[in-house]
Amino acid sequence: MVTRPQLNHRLPRGGNRCDFCGGAPVLHLYGCTTFLFMDAKIFDKQMRGWWAACLECSALITGDLWGPLTDRVMVEVAKRPGISRPELELLRKSLVRLHKGFENHRLSMVLTVVLGHAAPLEKTALHLRSV
Ligand SMILES: [Zn+2]
Repeated sequence: MVTRPQLNHRLPRGGNRCDFCGGAPVLHLYGCTTFLFMDAKIFDKQMRGWWAACLECSALITGDLWGPLTDRVMVEVAKRPGISRPELELLRKSLVRLHKGFENHRLSMVLTVVLGHAAPLEKTALHLRSV
């Protein structure tokens, strides 16, 4: 029987943080169409949205290095208090599926956050760049 990870350990975490590792500052926003993950749409009511990524995660995404990206995120997840080894194993499996979904639904649109990380994303000046 498969047990789902607890809700408070779910990813991505959202907010003005990297949607992959939870770090800051956010450097890039990646356009992505919605997809199903754990029986729910990634973007609840929209057909597409943005995934925020820090410098390190952006480099892995740009390089299509999905295994190292999952490894990087797991290093951060393992720092959270109260996560058991079985939960970590479940989270890794979920992350692999999540990252695969992102890879398959990612659009060619990338926004670069050019002002610091203190301002909320919607108030931060964004510069469109081609990939
Ligand atoms: Zn990151």
